[in-house]
Amino acid sequence: MRPFCVTVPESVEEAVRVLAKWGPEAHVIAGGTDLLVEIKEDRRSPKVLVDISRLDELRQIRVECGVKAEAGAETGRECKRTDEGEGDVVWVGALATHAEVASSPVVRKAAPLLAEACAHVGSPQIRGRGTVGGNISTASPAGDVIPPLFALEASVDVEGPRGVRSVDVESFFVGPKRSALAPGEMVLGVRFRELGPNHVSFFRKLGQRRSLAISVVSVAFAARKVRPDAFDDVRIAFGAVAPTVVRARTVEKALCGKRLDPVMARQISRLAFRDVMPITDIRGSQAYRQEMACNLLYEGLLDLLSGSPAAGARGG
Ligand SMILES: Cc1cc2nc3c(=O)[nH]c(=O)nc-3n(C[C@H](O)[C@H](O)[C@H](O)COP(=O)(O)OP(=O)(O)OC[C@H]3O[C@@H](n4cnc5c(N)ncnc54)[C@H](O)[C@@H]3O)c2cc1C
Repeated sequence: MRPFCVTVPESVEEAVRVLAKWGPEAHVIAGGTDLLVEIKEDRRSPKVLVDISRLDELRQIRVECGVKAEAGAETGRECKRTDEGEGDVVWVGALATHAEVASSPVVRKAAPLLAEACAHVGSPQIRGRGTVGGNISTASPAGDVIPPLFALEASVDVEGPRGVRSVDVESFFVGPKRSALAPGEMVLGVRFRELGPNHVSFFRKLGQRRSLAISVVSVAFAARKVRPDAFDDVRIAFGAVAPTVVRARTVEKALCGKRLDPVMARQISRLAFRDVMPITDIRGSQAYRQEMACNLLYEGLLDLLSGSPAAGARGG
């Protein structure tokens, strides 16, 4: 392991200045659950670690309604809607940990699939340290936070030497472990519109064992229930079955407006074959991943059709 120095900026501007000065020699460190493993194994050798843990503004989880939330606080109050039918916008800061997101009343209400995904990351220790920003920036196709963000059509706020910009989540991931972050940029947080009162959602993950396991396949689902057996506004994303997380647009299209029974749900779930392109690796073969992608989706749909609380309506 090569020696490195650590700097602890007091503001995002200062962090960005250091990142811009040192270029690829500087790495942001948040919870350190990914980065420290890579440094120990000599897969990364930064000269400077930019420890962003003092940037409390990046810890917030808030409902955006033009009022700035207090640092470190969560504001779950109702906002006045300006556009009837459109939900509020929720902002989750990059430093929010998986444990904080999983237990956040704001996220559980607005996007239960994201809370569910965070509740299934690693172990309690990993959930207590690992952050949303770290998960996104690692850009692993198996990152559990990412499929829900695809299904929520979230955007990623980033700041760099040229200022702040917002990138839609699908454009943020450009390849396995490669993101659209430009040199000197860091992630500030993610933003998404809350699911509507008639929306249902679920997140499911298959690992090599039940806990402390990286996903072999995962699926995030959000849709509006228009009848007990039919959905529209269907958004589905699969993790660990392609170089980046992918939207299952063939399946989405087939599901929209279709009245479902278990047989139809099975047939449509099989269309996931067309949307995924997994590889074989130590965690699973290509064929296994393809099968499991279809099965995870099918199971989730069956739960929705049967009204099981395991997959359900937007929390309230
Ligand atoms: C035992 C174990 C189990 C795990 N289980 C899971 C699991 O089940 N599911 C899962 O998805 N992941 C899992 N992980 C991976 C990891 O814990 C998560 O990806 C976590 O969210 C990473 O966040 P972090 O804050 O620790 O990131 P760090 O380790 O601090 O950083 C990770 C990378 O992101 C960059 N980075 C961090 N924050 C920012 C930012 N704001 N802006 C720009 N770049 C940034 C860093 O430079 C680094 O390249 C596991 C890891 C371990 C060690």
